Amino acid sequence: MSGSLPYSPVTAEVLASLRDAVGEKAVVLDPEKLKEFGKDAGSTVCAPEVLVEAVNEDQVQAVLRLANRYRVPVTPRGLGTGLAGGAVPVRGGFVLSLAGMNRIIEIDPENLLAVTEPGVVTADLKKAAKAKGLFYPPDPASLDTCSIGGNCATNAGGPSCIKYGVTRDYVLGLDAVLANGEKVRTGVQTRKGVVGYDLARLLVGSEGTLGIITRIYLKLIANPPAVTTMVVLFADLSAAMQAVSSVLAAGFCPCAMEFLDRHCLNLVGDLLPFEGVKESGAFLLVEVDGAPQVIDREMEGIGAICLEAGAINALLAPDSQKRSQMWEVRRQVSLRIEHASEIYIPEDVVVPIARIAEFVDSLPDLEERHGFRIYSFGHAGDGNIHLNISAQGRERMDRIEKGIEEVLGKVLLMSGTISGEHGIGVVKKRFLPMELSGEVIRIQKEIKRVFDPNMILNPDKLFL
Ligand SMILES: Cc1cc2nc3c(=O)[nH]c(=O)nc-3n(C[C@H](O)[C@H](O)[C@H](O)COP(=O)(O)OP(=O)(O)OC[C@H]3O[C@@H](n4cnc5c(N)ncnc54)[C@H](O)[C@@H]3O)c2cc1C
Repeated sequence: MSGSLPYSPVTAEVLASLRDAVGEKAVVLDPEKLKEFGKDAGSTVCAPEVLVEAVNEDQVQAVLRLANRYRVPVTPRGLGTGLAGGAVPVRGGFVLSLAGMNRIIEIDPENLLAVTEPGVVTADLKKAAKAKGLFYPPDPASLDTCSIGGNCATNAGGPSCIKYGVTRDYVLGLDAVLANGEKVRTGVQTRKGVVGYDLARLLVGSEGTLGIITRIYLKLIANPPAVTTMVVLFADLSAAMQAVSSVLAAGFCPCAMEFLDRHCLNLVGDLLPFEGVKESGAFLLVEVDGAPQVIDREMEGIGAICLEAGAINALLAPDSQKRSQMWEVRRQVSLRIEHASEIYIPEDVVVPIARIAEFVDSLPDLEERHGFRIYSFGHAGDGNIHLNISAQGRERMDRIEKGIEEVLGKVLLMSGTISGEHGIGVVKKRFLPMELSGEVIRIQKEIKRVFDPNMILNPDKLFL
């Protein structure tokens, strides 16, 4: 989208103005550090010319005013755990790190509200809320290492989405600095609000292309008093997915329904404290939370439905240590897949819940025809399937890319979407026109122009 725009390199004049504006300490030129800030958790790599480590909103405003004046690209960055290359400065210029803006400003139990800076680690925010008897539900698997600002910019989700929803469902309002350096307050700090267009919800999921989020107003809820976890083993994935549909259709509302397929179990089955895991074809981790008497009854009902659907075994976590072990399996899986693969491409598609079984049944045929292996795991309860495409031999990339296109095409034919959590960034922008019509893309590009006429904010992301 920004192909023909004239961007300026960071000249000595720009650098001197930057140091004047934000102070010497915030400006980093050390090549090793620049290299580190030239990648996220995905495969795109491109070092910035300068790293700016902001610790307050005034510095963010100063960086953007300067960048806008000189036409220097600015790539906002939280903690760099994104998987779509969103925080990678593909046009060079400044990387603006928000990691140093990491104060939780307030947890307000009376109004069930959290006010926080963007660099706060998600797990720290969850802990701070819990310490006051409150709950911030979004739980991306990366929660110990990602930032709440990054979560807002990507509209992060996690296992608990099935019951509690995604980050956007908890953002009441946002303060942001626009490309011209102007500060705006969007949304509300109340439970409701319908005054004008909802710019806070537009900024959520905008992947740093519309503004830099500098303060976040989050809705909290009461902390559920108890939780119980069960692992269910099936002979095959199709049976597991049928069970998921039946559980949901019966009116149960678990706070997690995570699955692993046979390939994944081969890699991480050894981490589970049970017999027979490696030999089974699919694993379902089910969790329910709420009042103790209620969740015990719910789990019994869910277990019965799974057994009826052909489960080989259903095992409750007897204590918190075993529960952690059960979750560790789910958390370790992507790391082990990446380790085992020369080529590793994580896709995170979503299909309608009732069509998950049909979709996963189509995967072996795709594997065979395109010569890659698909490790699938993810959030069975909301249809968000992480397809981790693994292959050996870089010379086969063209064939693999064609295969991925076919997988995404199939998802769209099923009324699904090509990304449930990770976003588009740089790695998926070529697939965007598969899902969005030309008219919708045109409107989105116009919105981008309104917010950022000089296209300095996170250029070359989302759109071709
Ligand atoms: C092991 C692993 C597991 C993961 N599991 C999940 C999961 O379960 N669910 C999920 O949704 N994601 C998951 N992710 C992806 C990633 O953690 C999320 O996208 C997360 O929200 C990124 O946060 P971050 O602070 O690392 O952001 P970054 O990677 O630094 O940035 C992500 C995007 O947000 C923009 N951005 C960051 N901060 C700001 C800001 N303050 N203002 C404006 N734009 C900003 C960046 O420009 C970039 O486009 C996982 C990643 C890994 C490596």
